[in-house]
Amino acid sequence: MKYYSIAIDGPAGAGKSTIAKKIARELGYIYIDTGAMYRAMGLYFSDNSISLEDETVIAKACQNVAISITFADGEQQVILNGVNVNGRIRTEEAGKMASMVSAKTAVREKLVELQQELAKTENVVMDGRDIGTKVLVDADLKVYLTASSLVRAKRRYEELVAKGTECNLSDIEKDIIDRDYRDMNRDISPLVQAKDAILVDSSDMTIDEVKDKIIELFQNAIK
Ligand code: C5P
Repeated sequence: MKYYSIAIDGPAGAGKSTIAKKIARELGYIYIDTGAMYRAMGLYFSDNSISLEDETVIAKACQNVAISITFADGEQQVILNGVNVNGRIRTEEAGKMASMVSAKTAVREKLVELQQELAKTENVVMDGRDIGTKVLVDADLKVYLTASSLVRAKRRYEELVAKGTECNLSDIEKDIIDRDYRDMNRDISPLVQAKDAILVDSSDMTIDEVKDKIIELFQNAIK
């Protein structure tokens, strides 16, 4: 049986997860948030004070980590060594840790394998940084979703303010630029637009406009 897949890559705050979730709901597909898996891995390294200096230590630590996902009310839940960590992975700090551990080979090998397994038995919309270039190289549609760093920072700022979190726009923009730099310049699986990915710039588009555009691209791709 053929399973369909849509790969959405792009920098932090481009709207990937919000849009991927909506597309998945509309098509009746499973949404897989791969960033959440790297965030859970970052949490494990930080909770256990594991140094990121030594590749052997990192590889050994990866053997002790079990990450799996389940779904509750259509929402992906990340289970780290038996504990649901969804409530802990959404902080800016967890994003930073994720970006650091995600540059490590042993971490990527473990999570890429899990992601590929998930797409073998489901129709999926998967978002991340290397989905089109590494995880699902044969995806039916690949999108590279981006927006200017200021627009992305403003979106994050508004989300945090709505949650009542005190924050500063220029600090957020600086964090976003630093994270993009790390993700685009690491040795393994850096964030790049896959050759066969379609660029969508969401700076001047609403969420629904982006969602509709990607669904249209997908329908044309599988015709
Ligand atoms: O998408 P999100 O902001 O949750 O991702 C957190 C971090 O995890 C990213 O900054 C990136 O370093 C890493 N990541 C990755 N590959 C993916 C998804 C996320 O390297 N497929």
